Amino acid sequence: MCAELPNALSDEIFRIIFEKSPGSLLVKADAPRFTIVAASDAYLSITNATRELIIGKGFFQVFPDDDHDPNDETGARKTFSKVVETKQKIDIPSYRYDTRDPDTGDYKIRYWSCSNAPFYCGEGNEMYILNTIVEITGEVNARQEATESEHRLRLAAEATGFATFDWEFKDELSLCSPQLVELLGHPADTMLSSREAFNTQVLPEDRSAVMNAFNDSIKTGVYAYDVRIAWPNSSIHWISVKGKLVTDRDGKPTRMLGTVIDVTENKRDEIRKNDFIAMASHELKTPLTSIKSYVQLLAKKLEASEDAFIHNALAKANTQINKMTDLIHGFLDLSKLESGKLQTKPEVFDMNRLIADCIAELLQSNHNHTVIFDGSMVLNVTADRGKIGQVLNNFLSNAVKYSARGSKILVNSTFTTEGLRVAVTDEGVGIKPKDQKKVFQRFYRADNEKIRNVSGFGIGLYLSSEIIHSHHGKIWVESIEGSGSTFYFSIPA
Ligand code: ADP
Repeated sequence: MCAELPNALSDEIFRIIFEKSPGSLLVKADAPRFTIVAASDAYLSITNATRELIIGKGFFQVFPDDDHDPNDETGARKTFSKVVETKQKIDIPSYRYDTRDPDTGDYKIRYWSCSNAPFYCGEGNEMYILNTIVEITGEVNARQEATESEHRLRLAAEATGFATFDWEFKDELSLCSPQLVELLGHPADTMLSSREAFNTQVLPEDRSAVMNAFNDSIKTGVYAYDVRIAWPNSSIHWISVKGKLVTDRDGKPTRMLGTVIDVTENKRDEIRKNDFIAMASHELKTPLTSIKSYVQLLAKKLEASEDAFIHNALAKANTQINKMTDLIHGFLDLSKLESGKLQTKPEVFDMNRLIADCIAELLQSNHNHTVIFDGSMVLNVTADRGKIGQVLNNFLSNAVKYSARGSKILVNSTFTTEGLRVAVTDEGVGIKPKDQKKVFQRFYRADNEKIRNVSGFGIGLYLSSEIIHSHHGKIWVESIEGSGSTFYFSIPA
């Protein structure tokens, strides 16, 4: 049948290969009839046809074109005519053509992908069209479902006041929902690329937060950050962004999607609250310093007194003043931290010397615990001595606060692969597993019957964790409820 094949074999070989090929149909280019001259087994099976029924018939007699939409360029008649006209292969990546179930007579929605190649055969080198089809109903349905569920999710997010964005890295396509466009200070119908908007509107000093969140999300898959943006009218607003980074099989980021909300009011409240804490702590510090001086003066004056009550009362007053001073300093540090003013001043010092100093200070006011520490070695590090001392004091005073009188506190310091690690172990009440991560959060106090009466504000460990993180270190706890806890920190050596 084909001119290029050896005559004796050509027809037979062609027929066998053709009939076994996947989804192929050969039609003569005798427009408008387009006579079907051959069909593969696979073609017959997927279209529920038989060779007897279709060979020799006009294509559109057997497979009537869906002529509902005259502009539909994917229709078979338009495509075949174009192949004849242009003598070029035409691919239709996706089109719908429903088929009838021979048993029930019902039509079934089906999607196909096809290729139509011109083909020259026979003595007169006549033109044929090789129509190859592949069914893609499964893929199209899956894609539609994914699009619909994404659409539903977006609607749900927007109904709850969240703005959304979707940034596809490959096509540089970054879509903003109308809510996000408004949230960034533009009229809702402005065409805006979320990438461009974020690049230009996030305040320069907050851009590192965006980069850090992105870098973290490569490890965790999720990102969250709060930053300030400048609207086109120059007003400043806080936004909170949360989302997901999608990666391909090789772990390469391909897409970012997420939600954005305006948190300007919350931030203003927080700033007002922090200012209040800072002001109140400052105001309380001044009279307390003067009370402390008077108590110290009194103690000096009454040194010679033999009245045990006087000595006892003054010592107790001094202890309480120290406690209150620590609490106030905690609040002052907190407000400094929140306003970004907590700066570290690194210097080289011996960690064991610092630990010994902190233990000595603790033992001045506490005679009820035994502290075990071997600090004979010199362990030099570069860090902020004052701030690391604050962390140690917090660990030590908590070990005292949350364990019984007479119990032991063990302090250990050593170099590990991660740097210099310090551990403070007590035999106290311990911490439930569910609270172990949370105790490093601001104002978090673990719920435990036995420590209901122990005073505190849940600031110390939060400040400690901020100090350790500002040294690029790690802070964590291991604990068994009822047996005790070990608080650790490590900083790069
Ligand atoms: P505070 O002790 O003032 O409440 P911290 O931030 O220092 O604040 O501690 C937070 C919480 O962690 C405490 O309220 C307590 O529940 C728990 N905690 C801290 N240290 C210990 C410890 N050594 N043993 C048991 N619980 C502890």
